[in-house]
Parts: sequence; C-alpha cells; structure tokens
Amino acid sequence: MLDDVIFDTVRGRASAGWRTTTPSIVDRLRGGDDTRIPFSVEFSPPRDEAAEQRLWRAVRVFERLGPAFVSMTYGAGGSTRDRTVRVTGQLAEETTLLPVAHLTAVDHSIDELRSMVGAYADRGISNILVLRGDPPGDPLGEWRRHPEGVEYAHELVRLVRDLGDFHVGVASFPEGHHRSPDLDHDTRYLTAKLRAGAEYSITQVFFDVEDYLRLRDRVAAFDPEQGAKPIVPEIMPITSLRSVRRMMELSGSRLPRHLEERLVRAAGSGPEEDRAAVRAEGIDIATEMCERLVDEGAPGLHFITLNFARATGEVLERLGGRIRTAADSAPVRSVG
Ligand SMILES: Cc1cc2nc3c(=O)[nH]c(=O)nc-3n(C[C@H](O)[C@H](O)[C@H](O)COP(=O)(O)OP(=O)(O)OC[C@H]3O[C@@H](n4cnc5c(N)ncnc54)[C@H](O)[C@@H]3O)c2cc1C
Repeated sequence: MLDDVIFDTVRGRASAGWRTTTPSIVDRLRGGDDTRIPFSVEFSPPRDEAAEQRLWRAVRVFERLGPAFVSMTYGAGGSTRDRTVRVTGQLAEETTLLPVAHLTAVDHSIDELRSMVGAYADRGISNILVLRGDPPGDPLGEWRRHPEGVEYAHELVRLVRDLGDFHVGVASFPEGHHRSPDLDHDTRYLTAKLRAGAEYSITQVFFDVEDYLRLRDRVAAFDPEQGAKPIVPEIMPITSLRSVRRMMELSGSRLPRHLEERLVRAAGSGPEEDRAAVRAEGIDIATEMCERLVDEGAPGLHFITLNFARATGEVLERLGGRIRTAADSAPVRSVG
C-alpha cells in the first residue's frame, strides 16, 4: 500500500520538484542569544504497541519542553522503513514538533531512495538527515553498495537536493568515522557532504568535548565556508554501564578512562550493576558536558532519548536558563 502511494508520488511530482514551507533546522537553531541555546531530541521507530505508547508519552513531554526539532532514526537496511515514515508523518501532522527524518542508503536502489523522499514529502516532511548507513547485522562489517544505489552519503545529499526544496543534514564524527584512515580524510569527506548541499551536521555521540571542539576546528580550517555551518553535538545521558560499553563497541567510539572509572565506581562490585547510581553519574556527566558545550558556543544540543523523556529532561532541568525552548524562548522549568 505504502509502495503504491510512494510510486505515484514520485512519478507524479519528482520532475517538478517538491516545494515546502516548513522551517529548516538552521532557521530553528538561529535566533537565540549567546547564553541560551536550543535543544533537540532523537527518537527511534517503536517495535510494538507498548513501545509505541512509550514513544508517544515521551513525545508529549518534549512537546511541552519545546525542542527546536526532533529526529527519527531509520533502521539498518531499511528494516524500519514503513514505521519510520508513518511515525515521522504523525509527528508532522499531529504534534507541534518539527520532525527530521533519517534516511540511509543501505540496500536501496536510487529509485527506492527517491520513493522514500517522496513519502516524506507527501507527509509534509522537508528536513532529512542523509546517511550512508551501516551493513545490517554488523555495523563494522564490510560495506556493500546496492548495485543500483549510491556509494557515499554525499551522493545521496545531491540526490535529495535535486528532488526539491529539502533541507538536508548529515552525520559528523568527532573521533573520526570508523572507516576513515585518518582525521584529514574524515574532514575532507564531511566537507564534501556539506559542499553537496547539506546545511548542518549532527555528530555521533561522544564523551570527550575536546573531540567535538577539534572537529569544529578541523572543518573551519579546511573550508571556512563549510566550517561556518552548524555542527550539532549529540549527547547521550548514560543510564547503564553495560549498554554504553556495547554501544561504544558497535560504533568504534571510546569512553574516556576517567569517565569509565566514575561509572565503574558507581556500578559497584555486586553481581548486577547499581543502575540507580550509574544513572545518577550518567546524568552528572551529561550535564557537565552540556555546560562546557554551551560555554564553547555549540549551536544546540541534540539528545539521544531511546524514546524516554526522563533522563534528558533531568539534564535539561539542571541546565536551566542556559537552554532555550523553540516555542517561547523560556528556560526549562520542569519536566513531566
Ligand atoms: C547523528 C547520526 C545519526 C545516525 N542515524 C542513523 C540512522 O538513522 N540509521 C542508520 O542506519 N545509521 C545511522 N547513523 C550511522 C551512520 O549511518 C554510520 O555512521 C555510517 O557508517 C556513516 O554514515 P555517513 O552518512 O557518515 O557516511 P559517509 O559520509 O558516506 O562516510 C562513510 C565513510 O566513507 C568515507 N568517504 C565518504 N566519501 C568518500 C569518498 N568520496 N571517497 C572515499 N571515502 C569517502 C568517509 O570518510 C567515511 O569514513 C547515524 C549517525 C549519526 C552520526
């Protein structure tokens, strides 16, 4: 059913190009003062009915807090395609939030990618985070281009931009992407995505603010024009030592030793980690990182929520008047 709709949409309108009136992410990031910055959150498509209810509870809490935008991930190999399109569409149609849809190139032909963009456009979504994606199953495994697809994200940026009036963001990597042989290579190809028409980037999760600052410096030195585009840091409040270790393994990133030591101490020596203590330490760490990022002039703070509002809400509450809401520029006061 969805395929038919997408097909007709693409056949009917691709040549004319889509026109949109929704604000861009860059518009939403602008307009504050130097001491208060906007925040945004990342959701994932829910797997079942219970997860869907949890997502919507989080959505309603964040609606009150007023993020600049919310993003919705896209499962490996298109595994969540229909759910990502449906739920992102509902966010656009049934909430006051500005959604950004993730789109990856894995296992998709160019025709299918065009269809996906058409499906988003049909639901009033014009902000797209363009990604190459990772091989399904093993993110660090061998990358195989679809025979009729694209090899790199910058090609997909161009494709989306050519289809119409879309606002495109891309991924950036404070520690360098795990497939980049060195940071110069990484900088060159991040810049290629920005030159292809991306307006901003969102970083991979990191835990050393210095890595973010060095990324910003590298892009600015390599190409000052592209370096002026916002690099939005992605923050994950840690709530479990086991989960963060697993995540670091899958992404090829690192948890600095002094932070790991704090979390290990909090976890205690029992057979199970002390989740409440780890969570409290994780909120402290995220708050400290955010404070430094605000001081260093980050354009916004993008939080991975795992579809829960509470941990991110606590960090925002502790940041208080440093955070701007999209709706009325009021500082965050309380979370539900
Ligand atoms: C904020 C964020 C959100 C994400 N959301 C999702 C999601 O929803 N779903 C999902 O599956 N994954 C997601 N990812 C993960 C992402 O898909 C992977 O990290 C993927 O491995 C890299 O994608 P990319 O778009 O950066 O790829 P690219 O920009 O194509 O880069 C991939 C590698 O190729 C190199 N490269 C690029 N162009 C060239 C070239 N012309 N010649 C030689 N080398 C080149 C780059 O330096 C890099 O090492 C997300 C990542 C981030 C940071």
